Formats: sequence, C-alpha cells, structure tokens
Amino acid sequence: MPLSVRPPIQTLPSYSLTGDLLGFLRCGLQYRYSRLGKLPPSHPVQLWFGQFIHAVLEESYRQVKEKRKSLPPWSDPDLLEIFERIDRRLAARNIICWNEDSQKLGYSRATSAVNELGPLLFPLINQAEVRVRGARKLPAAIIKLLGRDMERYEMLGVIDVVTQVELFSPKHRGNKLLELMVEELPENPPDEFEVIVDYKGMKRPAQSEEGENVGLWEIYEWQVHTYAHLRSLLTTKPIIAGVVVYLNELVPTKSDLIALQIALKRRTSTKELLPELGSKDEALLRDWKFKEQPMPKLSRDFRLQRAIRVIPISPMSIRDSLNEFDGVVGRIEKCLMDEASTGKLISSWDRNATHEPTCAACDTRTFCPDFTTETSPRLPGFKL
Ligand code: SF4
Repeated sequence: MPLSVRPPIQTLPSYSLTGDLLGFLRCGLQYRYSRLGKLPPSHPVQLWFGQFIHAVLEESYRQVKEKRKSLPPWSDPDLLEIFERIDRRLAARNIICWNEDSQKLGYSRATSAVNELGPLLFPLINQAEVRVRGARKLPAAIIKLLGRDMERYEMLGVIDVVTQVELFSPKHRGNKLLELMVEELPENPPDEFEVIVDYKGMKRPAQSEEGENVGLWEIYEWQVHTYAHLRSLLTTKPIIAGVVVYLNELVPTKSDLIALQIALKRRTSTKELLPELGSKDEALLRDWKFKEQPMPKLSRDFRLQRAIRVIPISPMSIRDSLNEFDGVVGRIEKCLMDEASTGKLISSWDRNATHEPTCAACDTRTFCPDFTTETSPRLPGFKL
C-alpha cells in the first residue's frame, strides 16, 4: 500500500503590527538593524518614553479598576510612586532614560496624561492591553513576487485600550473625550459600540500633502483600522471609530509651540493640523513673543483637541488599510529576498528619511546614504 508523504511543515510568517509593519514603514533599513538584527539602541530615550507612558497609563487604570484609588487627578507623591515603580521595572529590562531633562519631560507628560486625560478616558475603558491576531491571505500579485512559498501571514497586535461606549448613559454626560468622539462619528451611531484607542508617544503629525509619500498620519490610520478588523473577530459589538492619542500634545515643548504659532500665522493648516482654536488660545499663541516671554499656558480643552484624533471606521476603510499592509508585507519579503540574493544589506532595504525625528534618533545615520544626502556635514562657506 503506498503511503502518502507527509507535507513539509510550513510555519505562518508572523508580523507584528507595530514592531514589523509600522517599524518598516518608518524606515526599512532602521527596521532591519534594530528589529531583525536586534541591535539595541544607543540612546533609548524614545523607547523609554513610549514604554514608560504606556505603562503609567495602564498601571493607573488598573489601580482605578481594582478600586485601589478613585479617579484621578492624583497628588504628585502618588504619581511619583507609580512613575518610580515603572522606571524600576523598565530599568530591569535595560530601558533607561539617561537624560535628566527628557525624564523630567516624560514625567510631566505622564502627569498630564493621568490627571487630565485619565478622568475622561478611564470610565470609558472596557479592556486594556488587548491582544489580537488574525491570518491574512496575500493577494496573488504579491505572492508572485515573493521568494518563499508563502500564501498567508499572521498579523499580531496589542490594542492599548478598547472602550465600550453607551452613548446615552448618564454617567458619561459632560465627558469631553466622548464629545470629541461624537463630533466625528457617522450620523446615527448605534447606542452601544466599541472604540479602539491607541496611545502614541509623539506629537500630532502633519497630514501628507497631495502627491507626497504617505506619512505617519496615514500609517496610524491604517493601524487603527487593522486593529478594528482584528478586534471584530473577537466581539459582536460594532466598532465604529478609533482614537489615536498623541500624548506629547498634552505638554508641548517650546519648539512644538513655535511650530504651531507658525502654522497659525500661515493659516495653511487644515483641521487635522490645527483644530479650531478657542479665541483665548488663539490670541495667546499669536501674540506670544517666544524670544522674550515664557511659554503660554494653553487650555486643557485645546491641548486635548490637539492630542485626540478620532478616525471613523467603516468596512471599506478597513479593507483599504488591510490591503495597504498586505503590500507592506510584500515589500519586507522583497527586501529580505534581495539581501539574501545579493549579500548586500544597505542597498537591499527601503529607506525613509522623511521623518526627521526618526532619523535623528537612528544609530544608522552615521553610515546611512539617505541621511547623509539630506544633512551631510557642510564646512563653513561650502555649499554642497
Ligand atoms: S538615518 Fe533615517 S533613512 Fe537612514 S536608516 Fe536611519 S531612519 Fe532610515
């Protein structure tokens, strides 16, 4: 009797939404070194900040949920106790903020996130740190280009927060965050629905102009839609919106405010860059003489409006975002294939020098060809 041959074992390639797909979109070469090559960053300030503020928000929510504390605002000593505990936990994983000023700024943003955002967000939270996963079949056009036998891939992610919103619940009356969400929701939303919330340890990015490459504005939109898709596999509640929270906006730096003032004076910005200002905030910013005066104190509502971006979700927008990520998987696979076939690393990986802060924090910049073309050292009196 002929025995059938056991088919070769095939593992499904896994792609994490943040670590792989967003990492590659930020810059393929940096992704190759830091994620695939596992090179630790020499200045892990950005890594520290992202992990620190996520952990502080999660821990604060847990304390409220377990009724160990009432809703914030909390006193400085209470917050400091949480911050130091998180810092010790991160230090055990060798994630340390070596720069005192950055640590101070991180603490002050975390304070604002807990004390100003927390009272609005925590009552809406249904689940925090929700792990999601799902398999995707790659389109035939991408499969043809790949160097390995791969038809599907696995997508993994961790949603920071899933909120469960009951629109007409009296306990949410007057919640500014909910008001901001409702403004952007489609007409006649269901009475009960879920909203995906994702924290970003960065300032609100500008929307890409027409003809420009997609930037962080669009990429995070894809991410939220993809989370919505993966979450929909686990819940029966409709998911009609995502919220991205740009945490740096809660405590902007001087250079952030200068950039905002320029945008305000030019009035080139759309609502995405500069939401409607209250007249008081607008006057404060417009009249601020940054060389002579201290930074203006912008209202909480204005800072919240800058920090919160609501993204309506529809089946069509989910489908488009998933297609975009299929394309990214194809691009990563192609770079891997090129490196394996040519033996050359730098030229095989896509590079993206459009986001200045990413390049500024990148250890590869000393030998990255794209970085040097944009900011090559110039001798005084020489124009290259
Ligand atoms: S310097 Fe910029 S373009 Fe070059 S690898 Fe780093 S992030 Fe990418």
